Amino acid sequence: MNALRPPTRRTFVRGLAAGATSLALASPSIAQAGTRIVVIGGGFGGTVCARRLKHIDQNLDVTLVEPNRTFTACPLSNEVIASLRDIGAQQFSYDRLAADGIKVAAQAATRIDPQARTVILADGTTIPYDRLVLSPGIDFRFEALPGYDEATSASLPHAWKAGEQTLLLRRQLEAMKDGGTVIIAVPANPARCPPAPYERASLIAHYLKMHKPRSKLLLLDAKDTFSQQRLFENAWADLYPGLIERIALSQGGRVTSVEAKARKIITEFGDYTADVINIIPPQKAGRIAEIAGAADKTGWCPIDPTTFASKLVPDVHVIGDACLGGGIPKSASAANAQGKACAAVITSLLAGKTPEPPRLTGVCYNTVAPDYAFSLAGNYQPKDDIFAEVEGGATSPVNTPLDERRREADKAKAWFTEITADSFG
Ligand code: FAD
Repeated sequence: MNALRPPTRRTFVRGLAAGATSLALASPSIAQAGTRIVVIGGGFGGTVCARRLKHIDQNLDVTLVEPNRTFTACPLSNEVIASLRDIGAQQFSYDRLAADGIKVAAQAATRIDPQARTVILADGTTIPYDRLVLSPGIDFRFEALPGYDEATSASLPHAWKAGEQTLLLRRQLEAMKDGGTVIIAVPANPARCPPAPYERASLIAHYLKMHKPRSKLLLLDAKDTFSQQRLFENAWADLYPGLIERIALSQGGRVTSVEAKARKIITEFGDYTADVINIIPPQKAGRIAEIAGAADKTGWCPIDPTTFASKLVPDVHVIGDACLGGGIPKSASAANAQGKACAAVITSLLAGKTPEPPRLTGVCYNTVAPDYAFSLAGNYQPKDDIFAEVEGGATSPVNTPLDERRREADKAKAWFTEITADSFG
């Protein structure tokens, strides 16, 4: 691990001076050895962007800022919750990035000074940049769900950032009596991975069917419709009849507040309680995006979809879940595609070229039982200032032999291997 050291006064001053000098270099001919690119966030978007930058031009000085020494991936984490997979299979180190020549600063970024073009880390280190890429993922809008916050998530887990929360939800399911009730509260969009709550419901139903067959699962949903709904509902009817109940928005499914001590969930039309309660809160861009001034009043970051350039802060690009992506879903697939495209755009801009509008491709697998998955693939291009879905997408057919669902379950695993190798391998 190539962590940065805390600054001495000399390095701090030198950092500021370098940041100021870089202002003078903000011309199209900036492409020169040592151009400093800082990437904040070592998840699916940030790692790939940093690696691609270094791959395109070894001479770039690329720093990845990420507080965790181990990344825990969300995709397939629903299988961990359902006791089908070990959390270790979700975890990755940054060693490979350091070996690629990327400086890895194992700290959180706490402040950004867009005038001086510097990033300030939790330990006080100042890192100057010529271009900054933000890929901080999501944070929760706790203020939008009275009664639920970081502290209450210790008893009513969200498990929407993978790691200890994933294991907590798994342990709660393991400890639950047969005949118990599980609630999953689903937020409105935009949110991280819109189909994942329904994948989670499916895999928890699988766990209950195998281990606690008298139990029930209730989805309290702030949406009326959701992605691949017919495929999910058909699978639920076939695999888990009578086990999953869903209360949609128009039936009063939106959770309006939580009474954590009483384990009570309040919706527009009634109160619910359960043995295991999984609250997926409303979301916004990772907090550092807000601190940087890159998030607008929606909580997300508006960007130019051709360059990923923030519309609010100069020399800053935003990728992954944090950006306002229009029609492109907030997924690891999208973050990966955006990370690669953003690296290409930055190197083009540094070379004084006009970047080509990117065409992004994403695929999302939904696993509803160990050998049963389906998928949705899409292509996206800039249109009217956002990413719009263009032709060439595909969804799994509603009716297909079980063999095909099994093949898609294998492809989901292969996709995970490939995308995590892109990021960390
Ligand atoms: P992340 O991958 O979350 O990375 C953000 C990183 O930024 C984190 O490592 C964080 O520590 C770091 N960070 C935050 N703040 C700071 C700071 N101040 N300083 C430094 N670093 C910071 N997507 C799919 O494509 N397929 C799936 O099957 C799929 N399944 C999912 C299942 C679940 C249950 C969930 C919750 C999500 C799933 N996703 C899936 C979505 C996917 O995980 C996200 O869309 C993806 O991780 C977004 O990438 P990102 O780079 O924007 O953010």
